[in-house]
Amino acid sequence: MATSVTGIKTIGSWIGGELIGSNSGRSGVVWNPATGEELGQVDFAGESEVDLAVARAKEAFTDWRRTPLSRRAEIMFRFRELADANRKVLAQLITMEHGKTFADALGEVARGVENIEFACGIPNLLKGEMSEQVSRGVDVYQMRQPLGVVAGITPFNFPAMVPLWMFPNAIACGNTFVLKPSEKDPSPSLFMAELLQKSGLPDGVFNVIQGDRIAVERLLAHPDVKAVSFVGSTPVAKGIYESGTRHGKRVQALGGAKNHMVVLPDADINMAADAAVSAAYGSAGERCMAISVVVAVDTVAEPLMEAIKSRINDVRIGPGFEDGSEMGPLISGEHKDRVASYVERAPGEGAEVAVDGRRHSAASRSGFFLGPSLLDRVQPGMRCYDDEIFGPVLSVVRAATYEEALRLVNSNPYANGVAIFTRDGGAARQFQSDVEVGMVGVNVPIPVPVAQYSFGGWKTSLFGDLHMYGPEGVQFYTRGKVVTSRWPDPGTSAVNLGFPQVR
Ligand code: NAD
Repeated sequence: MATSVTGIKTIGSWIGGELIGSNSGRSGVVWNPATGEELGQVDFAGESEVDLAVARAKEAFTDWRRTPLSRRAEIMFRFRELADANRKVLAQLITMEHGKTFADALGEVARGVENIEFACGIPNLLKGEMSEQVSRGVDVYQMRQPLGVVAGITPFNFPAMVPLWMFPNAIACGNTFVLKPSEKDPSPSLFMAELLQKSGLPDGVFNVIQGDRIAVERLLAHPDVKAVSFVGSTPVAKGIYESGTRHGKRVQALGGAKNHMVVLPDADINMAADAAVSAAYGSAGERCMAISVVVAVDTVAEPLMEAIKSRINDVRIGPGFEDGSEMGPLISGEHKDRVASYVERAPGEGAEVAVDGRRHSAASRSGFFLGPSLLDRVQPGMRCYDDEIFGPVLSVVRAATYEEALRLVNSNPYANGVAIFTRDGGAARQFQSDVEVGMVGVNVPIPVPVAQYSFGGWKTSLFGDLHMYGPEGVQFYTRGKVVTSRWPDPGTSAVNLGFPQVR
């Protein structure tokens, strides 16, 4: 039986419907980013626990794939109801371990719940196609079947939403699932496992293994794992894709980002500045769809810089649970130092530090706080432009023309999200056609597709063919089978050695 996972100090794995500690002897610290104190320890699964989770998932697959679609949908509906009723508990766990503000955590949960709602429609989503009479007495139909045991490996920045991008669809399609969440915020996944169990999901269909690279490598090599969904940084995504496909698995590996926001001279300056500040510093810049570069075209640069600077001063920084807090701490002390090092280095590379987040009063609090930074006159070739910083640092690149701005965006190896701010519909339409990025916002700074569409970048922001969740998620977690059938009149039967043709 499951015990409550809320508030536990030693965090284990969830295998076959039970919380299990690890005997690997390896563990990690889970920090409270708002205080810099240790919240607990997470037991890292070794190969034997991974093997056990995969074995439980494999056993569960036999019955689960035969479970009627309406029953699978019913469980998803119940899970949706429980997730909805427990939004606050889930958001508390997120804020506690990740540090983002409670309001932001509730937003994360809301976007995750959308994915459960989508999966509730599985009886409709799995409808096949049929062509009657493709030849005399011959019909063809196509069905989609589950793959078996599938694995998900997720990042720290959305400890509930990104797992929810994966497992509701995977499970509703008839697969069984092994999730390896980030070791930095492991509790939301365990809480969702409890909710799934309460929803009536058979034990073994959903499992959570805690851990790091060791667990991931075992999942990638395990012969019974048929597919791997990954979300995280680009170097790791590339390695996962290469290793997973080498082991014969289907892999979708979503990587990092450097999202540009192009502001044309005709844009509404206030709206663009509001959007830039919200999208750059929300969740302390630790969003894969955060805006990290504003490309100010021509005359918009000066007024836009002023409008952004004036708004930065008003951003309220504090612990995620504090009323009025708009931006929380970073995930760890190490990450805070790494982010600050880009600001430190920027002047030597030729950029101007317009706002220095290291000097913000919040940066001296206990906890992993850093103020928002704004860098001006940034150029490709500078580390602050080339690297994904993943923190509250917004760079401004000045471009003389729309064409120069477009070239800049299209030359970047990352291609997750992009936005254009303009009042010119024709320019926006041209941009959405020309830009080589997977998700585009027109006067929308964070264009995360709703659950009925699919999420994914291009270039080094996604390795694999299919985007995540929505219709492409269903495609990823199933394989097609085409049946050509004939129910002949025995009277018309004859030997014919020719190649089958339409008659
Ligand atoms: P990360 O790549 O460090 O870790 C992601 C997952 O991989 C974690 O579960 C981690 O334990 C595991 N991992 C880490 N190193 C590994 C290794 N060498 N071998 C095997 N597994 C390994 O990413 P993170 O720091 O947790 O998250 C931030 C990153 O995720 C950013 O780059 C961000 O852009 C990206 N991200 C991308 C998207 C997207 O949709 N494209 C969404 C969210 C986050």
